[in-house]
Amino acid sequence: MKKVLTGAEIRQGFIDFFVQRGHTVVPSASLVPGGDQTLLFTNAGMVQFKDVFLGTDHRPYTRAVDSQKCMRVAGKHNDLEDVGRDDAHHTFFEMLGNWSFGDYYKKEAITWAWELLTDVWGLDKSTLWTTCFKDEKGEIAADEDAAKFWHQQPGINPEHILYFGRKENFWEMADTGPCGPCSEIHIDLGAEYCDKKDVPGHVCRVNGDCKRFLELWNLVFIQYNRLGPTALEPLPATHVDTGMGFERIVAVLQGVYSNYRTDLLMPVMETVRELCGQTPEERDANITPYRVIADHSRAAAFLIADGVVPGNTGRNYVCRMIIRRAVRFGGKLGLNKPFMSQVADTVIQIYGAAYPELRRNRSAILANLTREEERFHKTLAEGVTQLNDLLAGVKSAGGATLDGRKAFELYATHGLPMEITRDIAREQGLDVDEEGFRQAMEEHRAVSGAGKAFGPMGGEDVDTFRAILEEMMKEGKLPSGTVAYDPYSSLEVEGEVLALVRDGISLNEVTEGNQVEVILPKTCFYVEAGGQVSDTGKIVSMQEPGWEIQVEDVRRPAAGIIVHIGKVVKGNPRIGDRAMASVDAHRRRDIMRNHTATHLLHAELHRVLGEHARQAGSLVAPDRLRFDFTHPDAISPEQLDDIESGVNRDILEDYRLKIITKPLARAIEEGATALFGEKYGEIVRTITIGEGKPLSYELCGGTHVQETGDIGLFIIVTEGSAAAGVRRIEAVTGKAAYELVRHRFSTLKQTAGLLASSLEEVPGKTKTTLDDLDQARKQAQRLRQELVSAEFDQKLNNVAQVNEIPVLAMVLSNADAETMRQMTDRFKQRYPSGVVVLGSAVDGRPALIAAVTDDLVKRGLQAGELVKTIAQVIGGSGGGRPTLAQAGGKDAGKLHEALDQVLPYVKSKLTAK
Ligand SMILES: [Zn+2]
Ligand SMILES: [Zn+2]
Repeated sequence: MKKVLTGAEIRQGFIDFFVQRGHTVVPSASLVPGGDQTLLFTNAGMVQFKDVFLGTDHRPYTRAVDSQKCMRVAGKHNDLEDVGRDDAHHTFFEMLGNWSFGDYYKKEAITWAWELLTDVWGLDKSTLWTTCFKDEKGEIAADEDAAKFWHQQPGINPEHILYFGRKENFWEMADTGPCGPCSEIHIDLGAEYCDKKDVPGHVCRVNGDCKRFLELWNLVFIQYNRLGPTALEPLPATHVDTGMGFERIVAVLQGVYSNYRTDLLMPVMETVRELCGQTPEERDANITPYRVIADHSRAAAFLIADGVVPGNTGRNYVCRMIIRRAVRFGGKLGLNKPFMSQVADTVIQIYGAAYPELRRNRSAILANLTREEERFHKTLAEGVTQLNDLLAGVKSAGGATLDGRKAFELYATHGLPMEITRDIAREQGLDVDEEGFRQAMEEHRAVSGAGKAFGPMGGEDVDTFRAILEEMMKEGKLPSGTVAYDPYSSLEVEGEVLALVRDGISLNEVTEGNQVEVILPKTCFYVEAGGQVSDTGKIVSMQEPGWEIQVEDVRRPAAGIIVHIGKVVKGNPRIGDRAMASVDAHRRRDIMRNHTATHLLHAELHRVLGEHARQAGSLVAPDRLRFDFTHPDAISPEQLDDIESGVNRDILEDYRLKIITKPLARAIEEGATALFGEKYGEIVRTITIGEGKPLSYELCGGTHVQETGDIGLFIIVTEGSAAAGVRRIEAVTGKAAYELVRHRFSTLKQTAGLLASSLEEVPGKTKTTLDDLDQARKQAQRLRQELVSAEFDQKLNNVAQVNEIPVLAMVLSNADAETMRQMTDRFKQRYPSGVVVLGSAVDGRPALIAAVTDDLVKRGLQAGELVKTIAQVIGGSGGGRPTLAQAGGKDAGKLHEALDQVLPYVKSKLTAK
């Protein structure tokens, strides 16, 4: 009997098979697509190679093999609703692929696919079917080559080679661009897999609608460039792009009917089962929550490893939503305390070897999950109760859909994501207006001033600049088609003014006072990237009559175009004028100090806190640097001191920075730090600090000092929380650090002057002074109390009588609430039956207190009512128990007047009985 391969062996087997055939192993790209604003998550193997097919990116290899992490949870390809309901859908999955960039083509792709499936993995040839493209409209040539090569495969059943049309077998990237026919391999799992046997007219067939035939592998042959709806031109080079759903092939090779029963997900479900204490039979009878939790905890672990933490917008929202969705399904299994970190730990065990980022970020993954679960548990019950009320309302009104705005309110107040609201609504046969939810969310975001929740940013005047660029290329002014960009070698550059744009219109001449955008053939101005802000400076004419433009910003509206934005402060600049552009050198040097210091800070955070403290955001400005990083807890003052002094030690070592460009793969292999969400080309710029095993080794396009000593001094100004699981440090260097120190010194000197002490004695002297002050306050308080009691005792000997009951009403000077209470006690010790009402004002705020002995309460005299009545005089109110009550007020001047009412009040109450 053949040994059953593990999932890890199958993944590795695929990669090894193609490596033996000259392919380079390319690591999976991050789930966060680099430099692609239009895509929420990497959703196919294609994503990291898109630019290669478009011809704008070149790789040092022509054959590649990979296993790509993919996420389909939002947008067009959205499987979320199906996850849990069946055996095949996932939010996160892996896609195996082999790639040819202008290298081998259909013959090899088909031969190898057959060889791997049948020879290496031993699938029964008689169960395999293949499909080729034949255009149902007859406009595009049928892919007879592919069919021919399939026929040549050993042992293939010729009747299993079928033709299909555009929907199944023609692949397009977009409305225009690379496209071509594809060829698929399907497997017949056997008649017992058909789930439509009882449906009249059902035919079991490839690309049919039952579960008997399963698509295993799609081979895409890119051979055309689509110019329009009907126009195709052949590409000069042809490519191969293949994709095989990893979970699916593992299920087939392990002979299990469900992706969830493979060794990729079964152990995860087993962890869930152990946590809730069910038997395997109970699990199988109620499998949906198991599948949802297994799928979502795997997806969440991979997301957090790629730097996506739970939050309110975009990717972060998705991370939050899937965690919360899993938590709700956990509730169905009786898991009412945080459990996902234990489930995710199993995921890390299964996937950690193939995806080491999971191991590196284990603590961040577990901590983020637990924190998010705790947060959700606080509001879940209340949210669900309120939702059930709303749904009951919809039903009783005869409706079928919950208002989207109400669904959004549930999210805003109880943290119930729309997807969970939808789950619950559907369990009751209702639906949710998702469009309305999205609208309400966008409106809320607009009001709260945050960025857009979904979709691309857009809004750039890209077309104007593209037109200008084309014009310039036609005139031969910009032969390369791009503005040369070199912010590294010089702070000055000469060139001819190529374009002047004002309010989106290209002009020949602009005048003094105009706000303009200027294009030169090359620039030394840094364009904001990687957190480092853009340069400012000036552009001046090199000929008579002179002119000058003050450059306030630089931007890149589209690839290849760099625009200087500024104001004409002198003269009338014209197209064709020779000009000198120069960066504000002082400002730039301050920026460079902060950028290099940022790298040192990042390195010291790793040393002091651990490798999990990864960059989550960065600002490198002239006056300060701001660095956000993932770390679950607050940072102690000792750790902060350690980090700050570490950076200063690195500065004093005066390391020379090594700035080298090299292939990305080599840099990554050497352990260079790459940032999530950044797109890197094949050749990258690396910054190394430190000798031997470097202190810091980062991929970075920013500008840096030559030696760390140039930074001067580094001081952390603040440390705090930036978001859940993310800390933020702000710091200053160089001049700003000196200014800060000087300012703090001068404050210290002033303090020393006031204390008449030396600088060193300030803390000791301050402490003594504060102690003295404390003593003096206590003494003053004691004296005041003594005075008050003396005053009170005098009166106590001389109390008025109402109906033979002693009643004392008096104003005490400067007595606080506590003192007044003590005085009422003293009154009651002296008179077992009686009424005492005291008033006093401290700092102009009047207060009253009234005490009535029990026997008089029985006779209808209530301290609460009494104090409430007389407090009206001082413009206040109050209350309390029948025996003791107090009140505050506004008008201290009327205290006497208020107390004068006590005797008449008591008299009226007692005689009324
Ligand atoms: Zn069927
Ligand atoms: Zn950097």
